[in-house]
Amino acid sequence: MKAIAKVRPAPGVEIVEVPEPAVRPGCVKLKLEAASVCGTDLHIYQWDAWSASRIKPPRIIGHEFCGTIVEVGEGVSDRQVGDFVASESHIVPRTSEYLKRGLGHVAPETSILGVDVDGGFATYAVIPEDNARLTDRSVPIKIAAFQDALGNAVHTVMDGPVAGQTILITGMGPIGLFAVTICKALGAEKVIVTEVSPYRIGLAEAVGADVILNPTKDDVASELRRIAPQGVDGTLEMSGHPSSMDLAIDHTRPGGRISLLGLFKDNCQTINLNQAIFKGLAIHGIVGRKLWETWDQMGELLASGKLNLDPVVTHVMPYLEFERAMELMSAGQAGKVVFTFDD
Ligand code: ZN
Repeated sequence: MKAIAKVRPAPGVEIVEVPEPAVRPGCVKLKLEAASVCGTDLHIYQWDAWSASRIKPPRIIGHEFCGTIVEVGEGVSDRQVGDFVASESHIVPRTSEYLKRGLGHVAPETSILGVDVDGGFATYAVIPEDNARLTDRSVPIKIAAFQDALGNAVHTVMDGPVAGQTILITGMGPIGLFAVTICKALGAEKVIVTEVSPYRIGLAEAVGADVILNPTKDDVASELRRIAPQGVDGTLEMSGHPSSMDLAIDHTRPGGRISLLGLFKDNCQTINLNQAIFKGLAIHGIVGRKLWETWDQMGELLASGKLNLDPVVTHVMPYLEFERAMELMSAGQAGKVVFTFDD
């Protein structure tokens, strides 16, 4: 089969011809139907410091995908041939104490598909049965594929109350865009977003953001004070931009929450901690998806028909056109790029 793999410790990836993976105990083999490209794949492609320290080539990349189970390994009890499933990228052993305590998303013994073990940019993939999440066939494959990323947004949004609330979302990458439509579906009163890229501002309009502020043009602070004089009820940080922490602390109301998903380039940020303390803010780091609560919540949201996700899928192409996807993403001219597997 053909796969997209990091073959050597250097920038780029290659299309390689490799044997079909054999199913293993506790695992299922699936035939790929769609996959999507994540910012992490771009980092691996570019071979940044994180990738260079973490990935041991050769490695088939890709951790967001969906397909149909064609074979189940020994001991598999909860999945069967013919099931339509999507990938959860975090592999956590069933024996994990963190998992048993409902903290599987932060389990130290996590390994990641397409990073630590072979992923899904290939005709077939073999993954643990728990990581193959049952998905209703009514969900289109181009959406089913990116539930791993959508789940990041569900997890962040549902980290605090949403219905009737005014929510600020900083950064309109794909997960920020997902968060907008999830907030609306869950009954947020108003969703205010910040974004600088004209391309992404267009996508934010398309998914239904109520107010879009552009820090390069608008006086964001005075606009926020006008729209939400007491402060917003919650801020979802999705940009990793150094200025967004101050913005969040300044403009989240006393007793509100700040949920942090975006990664900052520099580990250390200078923030007004005393203001956060006196305001009694809940500042919470978000990673991965709750195993398996987030997946259940996401399944319900998808079934509700209330999510407006189509505008975020800006490109659909055969997976072997990986290079074109990388160009679009590094130019910031793409929402979610979805791969198809027709061969
Ligand atoms: Zn991802």
